[in-house]
Amino acid sequence: MSELGRLVTELQVHGVADHALPGNRGRRGGAGPSDHRALTIDGATVMVPVYNSASKASPYSLESDASGAVALATKEGDALSSVGVTAEPAFYSLSTADGIPYRSIALLHGRDVLATTLLQTCIRFRDRSDSCQFCAIEQSLEDARTLVRKTPDQVAEVAEAAVRLDGVKQLVMTTGTPNSDDRGARVMAETAAAVKRRVAIPIQAQCEPPEDPIWFERMKQAGIASLGMHLEVIEPDVRRRILPGKSEISLEQYYTAFEQAVAVFGRGQVSTYLLAGLGDSAESLIQCSDKLIGLGVYPFVVPFVPISGTPLEQHPAPSTDFMVQVYTAVAAGLRDSDISAEAMAAGCAKCGACSALSLFETEH
Ligand code: SF4
Repeated sequence: MSELGRLVTELQVHGVADHALPGNRGRRGGAGPSDHRALTIDGATVMVPVYNSASKASPYSLESDASGAVALATKEGDALSSVGVTAEPAFYSLSTADGIPYRSIALLHGRDVLATTLLQTCIRFRDRSDSCQFCAIEQSLEDARTLVRKTPDQVAEVAEAAVRLDGVKQLVMTTGTPNSDDRGARVMAETAAAVKRRVAIPIQAQCEPPEDPIWFERMKQAGIASLGMHLEVIEPDVRRRILPGKSEISLEQYYTAFEQAVAVFGRGQVSTYLLAGLGDSAESLIQCSDKLIGLGVYPFVVPFVPISGTPLEQHPAPSTDFMVQVYTAVAAGLRDSDISAEAMAAGCAKCGACSALSLFETEH
């Protein structure tokens, strides 16, 4: 069993109390996992919650000494491990010619991933009772930390600078779902084409399954190497409760879309998020992951982390034992297959920072 994987799992489910340490302070709100910052532990850079309410009550904290060295400690003050914090990237100090800070357009995730949310609004967010209950996509708009819509040229400008100044290795683009039957694939393709004109960087796009599968070809032709379409949760009653709007897209539709996408992007270049801890049993998560791996889809299992201001902000995270059980089984399935986090061209599964799965995959 991966000892580092277990420690990272423990930190990701409990969070860590962070006494305002320097460096890249991470992010709050927005799409996907959030309220966290990047920490490097034993060579692995992972995202650990530091801003949600659970982390304030965590049994772990980050402490720094007079020299600035950072250590992970228990609440009782016992040092566990030295920890690296990532520096603010150089591109954060830049702005576009019309005065928009680059950090409002894209952020550094993990150690070397540039990430952006192209559309910060979502058709499913109009009514909170209809939206994905864990999501905070529109929250970062409220205090003007980001833009409603990033244009292809803005993203391309920031990507070029992030590669040149900070050695960024890949671009992850996600989006709120627009009210169009391409489900966001069009803005993904337009933005990828603009980025590729300026800088050679592997790109993952993330969107809901488009109605017409021709969009998979169009995204690929625009320069997108990997695609994420996110199930999030899987049992029927859990889907209805957690994804009241998005569950109108059936699991069967997702599986059809996965097959069509794998035919275009290749085995192991399509992935999905599975948020563990919202009601799906370990058996469901493991069976679903096995099915996905068979299709050539990487099941990126992450622990649900409650985000401040969402309907699930008081929902508990899963236990470490639950996550370790799921990771161990899914990692074994991945090791027996032809797909892996490492072999992905780009994307969250390649970055891996929001999960300990890749640490179990490689038995660190
Ligand atoms: S796994 Fe995805 S969301 Fe998490 S830090 Fe990496 S790129 Fe960002």
